[in-house]
Amino acid sequence: MTRTAYALSYAYLLVSLLTLDCAVTSARNSAPLYAAGLATATLLFVVAAVREHMAADERRAEAVRVERAARLRAMADGREMRRAADTLAHACCERWWTSCGTQHASTCTHTTRKDISR
Ligand SMILES: [Zn+2]
Repeated sequence: MTRTAYALSYAYLLVSLLTLDCAVTSARNSAPLYAAGLATATLLFVVAAVREHMAADERRAEAVRVERAARLRAMADGREMRRAADTLAHACCERWWTSCGTQHASTCTHTTRKDISR
């Protein structure tokens, strides 16, 4: 929960206490409509404070989900990079590349010399 969310939540609770006091005072001074209205306002401020907590929890859960997805994406990118590096590490000469690994260039060290005595 952010500092702003805490401050807003506590402000809602403080205002709800003030409106509750006003509701009680109105009820004691024979103003039932004001008392009912202020009591309703008190409940609404409490609901607002609770919703602020719930919204903060949802924002935190969403941030965790986004961070987890980014890490999974980075891990997948890392696997692709390692696979490409392995492929390049086992690469041979240009002729080997263009022939899909079936032939080597004449200057390649992997070229097997044909025995001409046979
Ligand atoms: Zn080769």
